[in-house]
Amino acid sequence: MRSHLGIMKTRHLKRRGCFLLKLLCLLVLALIFCEFVVYYVVIFQCRWPDVKIEAHRSSKQSSVSVVKAMFLADTHLLGEIKGHWLDKLRREWQMERAFQTALSLLQPDIVFILGDVFDEGKWSSSQAWADDVRRFQKMFWHPVQTELMVVVGNHDIGFHYEMNTYKLKRFAKVFNFTAGKLVSRKGVNFVLVNSVALEGDGCTICSIAEAKLTKLSQQLNCSQEEQNHSKKRCSDMTQLPASEPILLQHYPLYRRSDAECTGEDSALPEEKNIPFKEKYDVLSKEASQKLLWWFHPRLILSAHTHSACEVLHDGKIPEISVPSFSWRNRNNPSFIMGSITSSDFSLSKCFLPLESSIVAMYCTAGALLVVL
Ligand SMILES: [Zn+2]
Repeated sequence: MRSHLGIMKTRHLKRRGCFLLKLLCLLVLALIFCEFVVYYVVIFQCRWPDVKIEAHRSSKQSSVSVVKAMFLADTHLLGEIKGHWLDKLRREWQMERAFQTALSLLQPDIVFILGDVFDEGKWSSSQAWADDVRRFQKMFWHPVQTELMVVVGNHDIGFHYEMNTYKLKRFAKVFNFTAGKLVSRKGVNFVLVNSVALEGDGCTICSIAEAKLTKLSQQLNCSQEEQNHSKKRCSDMTQLPASEPILLQHYPLYRRSDAECTGEDSALPEEKNIPFKEKYDVLSKEASQKLLWWFHPRLILSAHTHSACEVLHDGKIPEISVPSFSWRNRNNPSFIMGSITSSDFSLSKCFLPLESSIVAMYCTAGALLVVL
């Protein structure tokens, strides 16, 4: 009798153990899916857009002449002062997984981050800065064949009134960017602009930035003019591909508000009609006009507002506001994928997993555990 009872007890314990093991498996599976697999499932659906390629080129040349560029913005890596460790851990893991998955699935030629990489670059100590940079380099690690370029934002060096040479220099040391930069790849010209320095008040950093940008614009204009036309003026300039540039900057060009912006990731309805402040939310009218005059860009990509928008300047130059890449700023972060040739471009948006879907999946798994 006693031995029979013993056997029953062991069987019961075994069954219970087995059941607990199954529950544990369910929990681990939910974790692996939500923290790893989901990025592959979602980003796998994104495709590089098709772009028109000049007919006279052979197919072999054509495939080489398309630049596959990825644009993302406002990652806001949290700092030591305002960032809670759990918030930091969660957001950085999400961005690292999203970026690394996108790199492996989409294999862009070049990635541009349009500023506000850090949240506290504007006031962080040198030690905190070094720690932020170390984490950034780990999250945004990329193979040598993929280039990564960063444009400066107000959270990296401060708004105009709080930026100084020290902050700009430490940013430049890491990202090799101060006033402006021209990047030419496969016949496509990208102009990276320090839009924080376009205050127009003649401050040292502003004057250097303006001088640099005017020089770049001359160089670009020379490459587009007829050879004989301006031989003298352009003789000492490096020859660039004769293609209208694409402007990349943190602040958007001047627009009154986001009222005209549409799309699921544009600003919230209650925020759309709030007028933008010049030199704070957007560039001043004057600085915006200057950029258009100097560069005659065929496309502008900007950031800073954390929401999506498409604006047409002078009735023909499109500007795309790239939304934030961090789940801290949006439920539906995204990045822009561009197939670009020297004469044409085509853009599409790749959304990352929705934060609300991840939360819903965890809640379902949790509820299932409780019920079982
Ligand atoms: Zn900003």
